[in-house]
Order: sequence, then C-alpha cells, then structure tokens
Amino acid sequence: MSAVQDLRRRLSEVQALRKAAGLLDWDQRVCMPRGGGPARAAQSALLKRLAHELMTSRETSRLVDAAARVPGMDYDSDAAALVRWARRELERKRRLPAALVAELAERESLTHEVWVEARRRDRFKLFLPELEKLLALKRRQAELLAPAGADLYDGWLDEFEPGMKTADLARVLDEVKAGVAPLVRRVAAARRKPKALPERFDTDDQLAYCEVLAREIGFDFGRGRLDLAAHPFCSAFSTGDVRITTRLREELPLSAFFAALHEAGHGLYEQGLSAALEGTPLCEGASMSVHESQSRLWENVVGRSRCFWRPRYAGLVEAFPQLERVSLEDFLFAANECKPSLIRVEADELTYGLHVVLRFELERALLSGRLKPKDLPGAWNAGMKDLLGVDVPDDRSGVLQDVHWSEGLFGYFPTYVLGNVLSVQLYETATARPQVRAAAERGDFAPLRGWLTRNVYRHGKKYLTEELVRRATGRAIETAPYLRYLREKYSALYSL
Ligand code: ZN
Repeated sequence: MSAVQDLRRRLSEVQALRKAAGLLDWDQRVCMPRGGGPARAAQSALLKRLAHELMTSRETSRLVDAAARVPGMDYDSDAAALVRWARRELERKRRLPAALVAELAERESLTHEVWVEARRRDRFKLFLPELEKLLALKRRQAELLAPAGADLYDGWLDEFEPGMKTADLARVLDEVKAGVAPLVRRVAAARRKPKALPERFDTDDQLAYCEVLAREIGFDFGRGRLDLAAHPFCSAFSTGDVRITTRLREELPLSAFFAALHEAGHGLYEQGLSAALEGTPLCEGASMSVHESQSRLWENVVGRSRCFWRPRYAGLVEAFPQLERVSLEDFLFAANECKPSLIRVEADELTYGLHVVLRFELERALLSGRLKPKDLPGAWNAGMKDLLGVDVPDDRSGVLQDVHWSEGLFGYFPTYVLGNVLSVQLYETATARPQVRAAAERGDFAPLRGWLTRNVYRHGKKYLTEELVRRATGRAIETAPYLRYLREKYSALYSL
C-alpha cells in the first residue's frame, strides 16, 4: 500500500497549495483593500501555477501509475477512490496540450475584460469578436476532451460534472422545461400577488438573524464563520474552517436570509465531509450539481417551507417588530412569490430552471454551429419570450448579464438545475423515513442533516454524481420528485 500512501502525500501537497490560493481569493472578496489587487493577483497566480505544475509533473504521473497497479483494493475504500480520482484527473490533463491551456487562460481573461466594458455600455457588438475567438478555442478543447463518437458537449460538461453524458443531462432539462413552463403560465394567469413587506430592516439585525438561521440548520460556528460579500459564496479550507457569506440591503431582508441559508447549505456539506478524507482532493463536494443540491435543499426545500417557519416565525417577529402585522401566511407567500423576470440570479424558485434551460440550449447550438455567435442576442430574446413570456429591453439585462461565458465557463449552467432536481430527490428519499419526516414536520431538521451526512456529505468526491445518487436514493437521477414538489407548492400558493 505504500504506493498509495506516496500518492496520497503528493496529492495532499497539491491540495494544500490549492486551498492556500483559495484563502487568498476569500480574503480578496471579503476584506482586502482595493490597493491590494495587483500584488494579490501575482501571489495567487503563483500558488495556482505551483499546484498545477506539481499535479502535472512526471513524478505525480509515476505515483498515479504505481498506485493504480496495487492489486486487490476494495472499490469502496478511500484509497481506491483516491486512485480513481487521480487517474481521471491525469487522463483529462493529458488530453489537453499545455499550449492550448495557456492560450485559453489568456483568452478568457481578455474576453472577461471586454465583457465588462460591453455590458457597461450595453453593446453586444463589442463582445462579439472576442466571444468568437474564445468559442473557437473552447470548441477545440471540447473536441480533445469528448470521448470519440460522443456528443462534443460532453467535453465541456465533464469539467463540472465528471462522467455525466450530455444525452442524460438533456433528458433532465427537457423534462424540467416541459413540467415548469406550463406551471409558470398558470401561475401568471392566477394574477395573485403577496402583500408588500415593510420597507426597512436594520442591516445589523439582519446579519445577526442570518447567523441564527445558519445555526438553526446546523452550521457549526466553531468550525466556520459568516461574513459579508457583494456576491455571496462559500469557501472551505478544511472541514474545520468553512466560511460563508451573505449580503445586506436595508429593503431586502429576505435576500440576506435566503443567501445565508443557501451558503450555509454549501457549508453543511463541507463540514460534513469525512475526517478520513481531510487534506486530500476527495475532501470536497462530489460535483457542482451535488453541491448546489445542498444549498438549494436548505435554502428552498427547507428554508422556504411552512414546517421550517411555523416554530420560528415568532422569533423572527421578535427580532423585527415591523413584521407584527405580517401573518406567517403572508410572509411565506412573499418568500415564495413567482414572478417571471429578466435576470437569472434574481429569479424565483419556480422560474429559475427556465433561465438555465435557455442557456443550455444556446450553448449546445453554439457548439454544434447551428447558432452563429452574431445571432445570439436574437436567439436569447426569442427564448426569453417563449419560455418566460418576458420582453428583453437591452442586452445588458439579456445576453450580457452573466459572467460565465466571458470566462469560458461553458457547460456550467446546467449544474444549477441538476442541483435543484437532486435537492428534492434527496429530500424525498430522506423524509420517506418516518422519524426524519416526523421531525421535519415539527421544524426539527437535525435528523435530515444526519441522513444527508451519512448518505452524501461524508463521501466527498469518492463517487461520481450518478453513482452517489443511486447509492443514496436507490434510483437514477429523476425529475419526477422535483416537478411534483413544484406543482404541489405552487398550486397551494396560487390556489390553482
Ligand atoms: Zn450555490
């Protein structure tokens, strides 16, 4: 087994460099003064380069090959999973020539800069030539990464959802589209609106209450902290140091509360990873979608539910006496309102998936050449009208709104919807156990967290998404629980 121990030691060094770079990024987004920018970029780039060089070195390759030859490893052991992970990672890296990787990194940073300017001036034409150049490189990357004869999009998807096939993903997104779009139309036709909440909520009180919420779902402040960031996120440096953020606006307390629950959901996953995996690359969430399934589960499925708020609403009103005239029913309606809108990151729980379906369809059309980049704004606007019934007034609130494409992140968007789908599939499986369900109905989610820790969190990256889901739920990824949940929830809210 010493070959595996040697490999583990080497990968732990790579991981330590990555986590150190991550801490610099956290600091930059949370507390660094603006003047720190140039020096920080150089420091951060150096750590990332060292991690990359160590991972792709000949010696690491040799260690992986030696560990892979160790006979008789138990498939479910941490050692076997580590070797599987390392082989996949190296295999992927070997397919990409260093020159292409460098060219992509440079092109992505240029394209991002132009995107910032194009968005500010609301001019897609400025962005177009850069996007065309970036797409040509990204297509080359997909050709190298997608298995022979497979859908080219597999090459993009694999970076965020290792092992997942585009055909399986497309089936999930098609089902979400077919299930959600008619429901959105029925909700719109119901023409019901929640009563407006009071307009001002002290931001210090909001932050204190965000901490209460994170604690309520089990986030451990002895192994984590909560800070402020313009764009909330979660970063973990070990299972003993997990950092979440939220943002505060006086008139938008729900945005702070649900961002805190969302990030605390990511945080629970990180705090629940097995101590045996600590320091290794397996000590992370299984994939983007599984991670997102946990933020959505705690933010939406639990955090926007009546079960959660019934025993806690009096405490909320005590913290914010301006809510005294707002009933629990009105509060829940406000927290769950469905309102088709232009901007994905502000979308409600029901319409969110349709924003992503549009991006996925456009990405596939761009990659296959069916859609030319110059026709992207038109296709975007037509899609928004078709899916959400909204008219896009300008590219800034349309095709230029998201940062992802400018940074070369193609294949990333669908993981958000997959996360929503998985959140309900996992929740439904967990609450099929009578004690988990009975506790949840009383507003006690500790047994749910226990189930998730045993069946999802502790495994880290040991299993790929589909295998993890099958082990936890006994079934393949399926949309039926998610669509059923949305239908029941919105039918009740809007009396459909
Ligand atoms: Zn998230």
